[in-house]
Amino acid sequence: MPSGTGKTVSLLSLTIAYQQFYPNKRKIVYCSRTVPEIDKALAELKRLMKYRASHGSSDEGFLGVGLSSRRNLCLNPKLSKERSGKIVDARCRAMTSSWVRDKAKSDHSIETCSYFEISVADVVIFSYHYVLDPKITELVSKDFSKDTIVIFDEAHNIDSTCIEALSIDLNLEKLEASTKSVEQLSLKIEEVKNTDASKLQDEYNSLLEGLKEAGEARLNDLVIENPILPDDLLFEAVPGNIRKAEHFVSFLKRFIEYVKARMRVMHVVAETTTSFLQHLKEVTFIDKKPLQFCAQRLTSLVRTLEITDLEDYWGLQKVVAFATLCATYDEGFLVLFEPFESDTATIPNPILNLACLDAAIAMRPIVERFHTVVITSGTLSPLEMYPKMLKIRAVVMESYTMTLTRSSFLPLIVTRGSDQVSISSKFEVRNDPAVVRNFGNLLIEMCKTVPDGLVAFFPSYLYMESIVAMWNEMGILKSVYKHKLIFVETPDTAETSLALESYRKGCENGRGAVLFSVARGKVSEGVDFDHNYGRAVIMFGIPYQYTESRILKARLEFMREKYQIRENDFLSFDAIRHASQCVGRVLRGKSDYGLMLFADKRYSRQDKKSKLPAWISTNILESYNNLSTDMAVSAAKHFLKNMAQPFDQSKQIGHSLWSEQDILQRKRISHDSTHV
Ligand code: SF4
Repeated sequence: MPSGTGKTVSLLSLTIAYQQFYPNKRKIVYCSRTVPEIDKALAELKRLMKYRASHGSSDEGFLGVGLSSRRNLCLNPKLSKERSGKIVDARCRAMTSSWVRDKAKSDHSIETCSYFEISVADVVIFSYHYVLDPKITELVSKDFSKDTIVIFDEAHNIDSTCIEALSIDLNLEKLEASTKSVEQLSLKIEEVKNTDASKLQDEYNSLLEGLKEAGEARLNDLVIENPILPDDLLFEAVPGNIRKAEHFVSFLKRFIEYVKARMRVMHVVAETTTSFLQHLKEVTFIDKKPLQFCAQRLTSLVRTLEITDLEDYWGLQKVVAFATLCATYDEGFLVLFEPFESDTATIPNPILNLACLDAAIAMRPIVERFHTVVITSGTLSPLEMYPKMLKIRAVVMESYTMTLTRSSFLPLIVTRGSDQVSISSKFEVRNDPAVVRNFGNLLIEMCKTVPDGLVAFFPSYLYMESIVAMWNEMGILKSVYKHKLIFVETPDTAETSLALESYRKGCENGRGAVLFSVARGKVSEGVDFDHNYGRAVIMFGIPYQYTESRILKARLEFMREKYQIRENDFLSFDAIRHASQCVGRVLRGKSDYGLMLFADKRYSRQDKKSKLPAWISTNILESYNNLSTDMAVSAAKHFLKNMAQPFDQSKQIGHSLWSEQDILQRKRISHDSTHV
């Protein structure tokens, strides 16, 4: 079901009712993707708690918290007015780092922040990354107990988030920054040696015992596992050659120099982590073992040197995470050296990618640690794909259809133009003038028919640019302009925000507007086109990924070999989930309505339709499965005329909205049936 139809509130009411009923209140962690989605979840939570209170529920001391960056949330009076996120981060660390809090116990002149200790929230709402990205999990989520209920909402792309969380790219700028950071570390070590050498000696001794604290906490199940620090290393001593701070620093220097040298490539080099390590050993004699400990060794050193300005070490943190991941995983990763930033670039700007190919690596610690993990979305389809990709065992897998008193959306599959020429974004025909013209005519006709806002999605920026240029030459844009203002999404966030704002104005003032966007872009995922802001969405073509991408090819091969997921199955699944996301933008609530147009002949095939979410596919009528432009226009006119009639909200009661009596009656029915 699409957003706005009650998914979030249903999930929250069920879990909170359960949480509040039992005396040992399990924490609920609700993860969503974007800031607007997090805001919406918080608003739903507020409404829900108000409703519970009005119905006599006493949720005393209940606390729900939404987490975002320190700059947005800081309550400390001395910091909250600070505008720079970097400064807030650094000053917060200076007051809340473990060593500062330790010292403050005996020295009351040291300033700390009393808000830091608050950890009593019943519901925490934040971004996926706070749980899935090991670099952030270490800071935010590691102390959640095992019985925490973790909910991933809008999880249709969860595999991509998992992969991104463990993928690292390095360029020369980052490597230069890390060289500088290493020099800074050297200076600090010298400084500490001269002032308090015992600190370094204490650190050396504790490293001799291995990463004991982390190991014990994990054994006692106190903290979540971190994929960058595997279990088998926890009780081993940190290797001798990186135990001393100055040795570790020169070890890092050598490693960074090696990576810099490797980046002077003239052609693309793709290799496994094993072969990367082998070459590294041949050239520098650096072993796998110390590399595995790199990330934790740096954390320990930063703590010993009491560094709070971590922003200065961002490049180095990436380099050590790269080293540790490379040395930890023999499979599931690809090391890729590319001399140019993109295929079209002519000036060399080498990039080193450590691409994670296996979404299960980031997901494993979550499902192993927490007893209850809920993965949900309006476009999680086909359901069976997710347990396979994430390597999880789903205890309950359910797909629900939507209950509506009126058919408030109309999916139409347009396979051909009015001249009967098939339309498709297939590579061989996508630039065929007849196809482009038919796409354009469909847009003109829809702009004439649909009031207010219309959104057109394209498979990629490249395709959008070429088709819009051809439409301009053909005079199609001129005709569109007679009915609607035209706005375009670009890769630039500021430009897109401006385009969106103007688009909304166009929808409000009656002139009408059309927005050209791309699947997988910012608009397709995070922006709602409710009511007059989107009465129709046209998906031009099928948004397949760019299959020549080396990383995608490697991931497809990996999934075929490891999880027996065939390339075509994955590519179609991925394209259809993005198409569903795009068309789903049009319906943002039960009182909303809109048209969904799938403009490509391939959508009429069963293998594509079966991958659409059930709430869309079950509403595609057989008669609307293979339409020409004129047929689609007449269906759209009929639908819009029906929808424009006044809608009585109260009709929903008893059908898509239950009254208290309906719930009681339902309860009685299910009670009776269990006693038959
Ligand atoms: S812990 Fe204190 S200083 Fe840090 S972000 Fe929270 S309120 Fe601000």
